[in-house]
Amino acid sequence: MSFRIPDEKISEIRDRSDIVEVISEAVRLKKTGRNFIGLCPFHSEKTASFTVNPDKQIFHCFGCQEGGDVFSFLMKNENLSYPEAVKSLARRFGITVAERPLSSVEKGQMSEREKILEINRHAVIFFRKCLNQGTGGEKAAAYLKRRGVDPETLEKFHVGYAPEGWDHLLRFLSKKNIPSPTMQRTGLVIPRKTGDGVYDRFRNRVMFPIFDVNGIPIGFGGRSIDDALPKYLNSPETPVYHKSRSLYGLNFAKKRCRETDTVFIVEGYLDCISLHQFGIENAVATLGTALTADHLRMVKGHAEKIILVFDSDDAGIKAAVRSVSLFMKYDNAARILVLPENHDPDSYIRAMGPDKFRELSEKASSVMGFLMDAAVKKHGMTVEGKIAVIHDMIKPLASITDTVARSLYIKALSERVDVPESAVMAKLKEFQSQGKLQGRMTGSGESAKKESVLVSGGSDTVSPNIRSERRIISMMLQFPEILTDIERHDVLSFFRDDQLRSLGMCILKHIDKADHIVAEVLNDLDDDENKRIVSELGIGDEAWQYQGCIKLIQKFVDNSRIFGEKDLIDQIRAAEKNNDHDLLIKLLSEKQRKAQRSERLKMSLIAGR
Ligand SMILES: [Zn+2]
Repeated sequence: MSFRIPDEKISEIRDRSDIVEVISEAVRLKKTGRNFIGLCPFHSEKTASFTVNPDKQIFHCFGCQEGGDVFSFLMKNENLSYPEAVKSLARRFGITVAERPLSSVEKGQMSEREKILEINRHAVIFFRKCLNQGTGGEKAAAYLKRRGVDPETLEKFHVGYAPEGWDHLLRFLSKKNIPSPTMQRTGLVIPRKTGDGVYDRFRNRVMFPIFDVNGIPIGFGGRSIDDALPKYLNSPETPVYHKSRSLYGLNFAKKRCRETDTVFIVEGYLDCISLHQFGIENAVATLGTALTADHLRMVKGHAEKIILVFDSDDAGIKAAVRSVSLFMKYDNAARILVLPENHDPDSYIRAMGPDKFRELSEKASSVMGFLMDAAVKKHGMTVEGKIAVIHDMIKPLASITDTVARSLYIKALSERVDVPESAVMAKLKEFQSQGKLQGRMTGSGESAKKESVLVSGGSDTVSPNIRSERRIISMMLQFPEILTDIERHDVLSFFRDDQLRSLGMCILKHIDKADHIVAEVLNDLDDDENKRIVSELGIGDEAWQYQGCIKLIQKFVDNSRIFGEKDLIDQIRAAEKNNDHDLLIKLLSEKQRKAQRSERLKMSLIAGR
C-alpha cells in the first residue's frame, strides 16, 4: 500500500483506539456476553445482528456480512480512504502522525475525495471572511442580524457569505493553483452555458457549510438575501456529498442527542440553527429532501427517540404519508410534532422559548396517531367524513408490514371512527388485492428484493466440506493455540477451497503474533472480501478446547481423504478406460502416498503434540 504513514504508527494507532468506543459514536451498542451488538449501519434491520468484539477489536454484521477492524469500519461508515481513516483515528487519540508537505507526485495521488474536501475547507474560510470583511458582507450580516442569529451561533456553524459577482471564489481558488476541473467537481463553480470557462455557483447568498458527522465540510447550502430564486440553493451531489445521506447539524447535535437520547429533525438550516441557539442542541435538518432510511440510520446511532418537527399539518401529513412505511420498518416509535398555526421552529422558539418547545414536544404523536388525527380533523365525523377518514388511512395501514402492529392500528382506527374492525379489514384487503394485481402487471414484487438481501456464505448455503474448512479457519482465528498443530500437520493442504486455504496460510504467517492474530491478519489483507471473511469467522467467542479441536481436525482430514480418494478413484477409472498407462501409474502412486500421509497425520494427532 503506497502510503506515507509508517506501519509502526498504524499499529500504535490501532492499539490505542478502542473499536467499541469508535463504533459507539455511530451505533448504539449493547453488551451481550463478551460482545456488543447493535443495529447495523450498513444495512437496514430491526433486530441487531451487528456484532463488535472488543477482545479481537473487530466487528461483523451477520445480516450483510460487512466486517473488519476499526479502520475498515471508519472507511465504510464515513466513506473514507484508508489513509484518511488512519489519520482520523490518530487525531482522535492524540497520536501525532508526522505529516510532511505533499510532493507533487503525492498531490497527484491524493484521492478525488480528499481534493474536494480540501477545496471545501478553503471555501468555508473564504465565505466566512467575506461575511465579516467587506465585499458586500454587510448586507448578509444585516440579514442574519434581522433573523436574530447571534455572532456566537454564526461562528459555531461557520456561516458565511458568497459575494455578488461571478468569480470571487473562482479567483480565490485559482490563486491556490487549483485546476478548474477539480473545482468543478466540488460543485462550487459551474461551466458557462456558452463558451469556455466557469463561474461561481453561489452568488450573493448567505452560506451554510454542511458538515459530516465529524465536522468535515462536505457541501454548502446558500440562502438568497435578495429576491433571487431559488431561495435555497444546495451543492449538487458530489463524491463527498449525498443529500439523502447528509443531515445538517449532526456534528454539532450528536453529543446532546446521546445525552437526551432524543433527536429533533427539522426541515431548514435556520430552524436548526435557531434551536441550537436557544439550547435545543439535539436538532438536525434534512436538506431539502424527504427523510430517507439512511437518515434514520444516521440518527439512530445517536438517539433512540426521533421527533420530526413540521410547520403545519399539511407539510406534516405529506411527509408522514410519504414515510409511514419507512417508520414502520425502522422505527415505529418515531413521533411527529406539528407546530401551532403560522409557526416554524425558528419563529416558535423565538416567540415561546425553549421550555415551551420542550413541553410541546412531549405531546408529539405517533406517526399513525398523527395521521388519524389529521384525517379526522380534515373530514370530520359525519358519515361521509368517516368514510373519507378510512379511505385516507388505508394506504398507510397497508404499508405496515408487521402484522401485529397493523392489527393494533386497525383496532384503533375502528374505535376512533366507530366502525367494526371487520369493515376496515375488508377495505384493506380490497386495497391490497388491487395493489397485487398492479404489482403483477408491472412485474414488480417484494420477493426479488428480499432475495438480494440474503447473502451467500451463510452456513446453510455452503457445502459440507467448505463448512468444515470455514470452521477450521474460525478455530485458527479464535483459538490460536492450535496454530502450531495446523502448521505441523499441514492441515491446509487438505483444503479444497483456494480462498480459504490462502487465508489459512496468511494466518500461519502471523503465528508468532498469535495474541493479536485477527488484527495482524486484517492488517495484512488488502481486499474487502477476505477481510469480511476474517471478521465473520473470527468474531465468535466459542469456548474452544484443545482436544475438541484435534478431534475436529481429525474428522476433517478423514473426510477430506474420502473425498480425495473418490476424486482419485474416478480419475483412475478414466485412465484405465482410456488405456493411459503413464497417467494410471502416476495416479496409483499418488493414491498410495496420500493414504500414507493421512495415516501418519492421524497417528500423530492421536499421539498428541
Ligand atoms: Zn449489516
